[in-house]
Amino acid sequence: MVDLRGQYEKIKTEVDQNIQEVLNTTAFINGPAVKEFQAQLEIYLKVKHVIPCANGTDALQIAMMALDLKPGDEVITADFTYVATAEVIGLLGLTPVLVDVKPDTFEIDTDAIERHIGPKTKAIVPVHLFGQCANMEKIMAIAKKHNLYVIEDTAQAIGADYTFSNGSTQKAGTIGHVGCTSFFPSKNLGCFGDGGAMYTNDDELAKKLRMIAHHGQSVQYKHDVLGINSRLDTIQAAVLKVKLKHLNEYAAARNKVAAHYDRAFKNHAKLEIPVRSKQSTHVFHQYTLKLKGVNREFLREQLAERGIASMVYYPIPLHLQKAFATDRYKPGDFPVTEQLCATVLSLPMHTEMDEDTMNYITTNVLEILNK
Ligand SMILES: *Cc1c(COP(=O)(O)O)cnc(C)c1O
Repeated sequence: MVDLRGQYEKIKTEVDQNIQEVLNTTAFINGPAVKEFQAQLEIYLKVKHVIPCANGTDALQIAMMALDLKPGDEVITADFTYVATAEVIGLLGLTPVLVDVKPDTFEIDTDAIERHIGPKTKAIVPVHLFGQCANMEKIMAIAKKHNLYVIEDTAQAIGADYTFSNGSTQKAGTIGHVGCTSFFPSKNLGCFGDGGAMYTNDDELAKKLRMIAHHGQSVQYKHDVLGINSRLDTIQAAVLKVKLKHLNEYAAARNKVAAHYDRAFKNHAKLEIPVRSKQSTHVFHQYTLKLKGVNREFLREQLAERGIASMVYYPIPLHLQKAFATDRYKPGDFPVTEQLCATVLSLPMHTEMDEDTMNYITTNVLEILNK
C-alpha cells in the first residue's frame, strides 16, 4: 500500500545525518530536534502551539484530559473511523456517542451531530477521514451554539487546507480547540516509529496539554494534575524535520496518483471514485473507491494474485465492534457507515508511485471487473 523505502532513499543523506547527530549527542529525550521540529510545524500550520507527543492516540487522550472532560460526559464522533478516535473516549470513562457519516465524502454528518446533542454532551471529535476535512465551519457553529469543545482528529489529513465561506483558509487541525495528529510511518507525515502531536491557538490550553503529556508537571518534580508520559523521541523529530520540508510535494504526488486512478475509473458502472469536498483540499491519505455490485473479496484476491495490494478501511463499523457494544447500538443503526464498510476498497497510495505502476494497477482492476 505504501513505499516507505523509496521515500527514504530520496532523503537518506539528510535523514541519516540528522539521526547520527542525535546519536553523537545522546540527547534521546527532549533533544534540540524536538523543539526545532515543533517550531517548524507551527510555522507550516500557522498555529500558535504545537505540542509533540508519543502517538496520535495519546494526542487524543491528552486533549480530552486537558479539556477537563469528566466520566459520564458525552463526546460525539463518527461511526466510520479508526478505532483510536472512540477508544480514548471510552478509556477516560466518557461516553462515545457515535453518529453516521455522509455517503459521498465520508465526513461526519453535521445534522446527525445536532440531533445527538443532549445535556451531557461536552465535545465533538470530527475526523478528517482519508485526507480531507469535515465541514468545520458548520461544526464550529454547532459547537459555539451549544458551548462544546471541538477536538479535530487530523491523523489522516495533515497539510489539508480548509476554506471557509468567506474565502479564508486554515490548515486541518488548527480550527477546533485542539487538533490531534499522528506521525505513524504510513501517515502522510510519518516518522520511523511512533509519534504524534497536538495543536492549539489557546495559550492556557497549550500549557495544560504540555503539562499532561509530561506527568502533569508544571516545573520539575512539581505535579499539579494527573498526567501521562507521552513524548516524541528526538530521533523521530530529527526524521520529521526533514520530511516536513517535503510535505507539500508529498501531497502533490499523492494527488497525481489519485488523478490517474480517477481518469481510469470515473465512468465505470461498478466503481465510484472518491468525491472531493468543496471546502477542503484532499491530501489523499487513502484513495478509497466505492464498489457497486462487486464481490470485494474476489477482487482483492485477484489483485493479490497479480501482486497488487488493497485494503478495506474499515471493515466493521465502530458501533458493531465488541469493544463498543452496548445495548444502545444494533445493526442497522448507522446505515451509511454499514454500507460503506461493506463496499469500500482502498488502493495503493504513496509518494513514490511511477506511471508504470499506476497503469499496472488500473489496467488490472479494470480487467478483473470486466471479466
Ligand atoms: C492513525 C490514526 C490515529 C492514531 O494514531 P496512532 O499514532 O497510531 O496512535 C487516530 N485516528 C485516526 C483517524 C488515525 O488514522
